[in-house]
Amino acid sequence: MARTGNRNIQAKLVLLGDMGTGKTSLVLRFVKGQFFDYQESTIGAAFFTQILSLNEATVKFDIWDTAGQERYHSLAPMYYRGAAAAVIVYDITSMDSFGRAKKWVEELQRQGNPNMVMVLVGNKADLEATRKVVTEEGEQYAKENGMFFMESSAKTAQNVNEIFYEIAKRLAKAS
Ligand code: GDP
Ligand code: MG
Repeated sequence: MARTGNRNIQAKLVLLGDMGTGKTSLVLRFVKGQFFDYQESTIGAAFFTQILSLNEATVKFDIWDTAGQERYHSLAPMYYRGAAAAVIVYDITSMDSFGRAKKWVEELQRQGNPNMVMVLVGNKADLEATRKVVTEEGEQYAKENGMFFMESSAKTAQNVNEIFYEIAKRLAKAS
């Protein structure tokens, strides 16, 4: 059996994406196991920590959530400076949000830490009836840009833990 907790990794993780795509909801689902139907966009606690234990390492995430600044389609580079991982979120029912996600990816590729673990997330997968972005589109874009891809739902909890476990595994492998 692998020893547990034999390495401690601390990693800054940031969330990027359009307003309303579910960034805060994903964090609250992951950290607190809760979901709120009417998320106040202005309630940005902005900072959360969560620990994930893998066989090979213990990863402590310092999670930075936005407090609504993404409304202006810009974020200070200070927000993602030093980030080991970035979760770029779009809403599968909004083609606009998918377009914005690509812009965030491009910005990180230009200005972010080159070793950053980047994950593209199509959230609100429970809203299949009003889907606008087909799965393959997200998948394909992520593949072209060397990113891990997943569709999730903060509402049903589908794939939420999986996103963070995958990031933790990649960070453990890289360190
Ligand atoms: P943020 O602006 O990116 O932080 O988005 P929020 O987390 O504030 O979510 C915006 C709205 O979408 C809120 O009303 C949430 O309840 C809702 N929401 C977030 N994630 C999901 C999801 O996976 N499914 C559904 N149906 N609604 C979601
Ligand atoms: Mg938010």
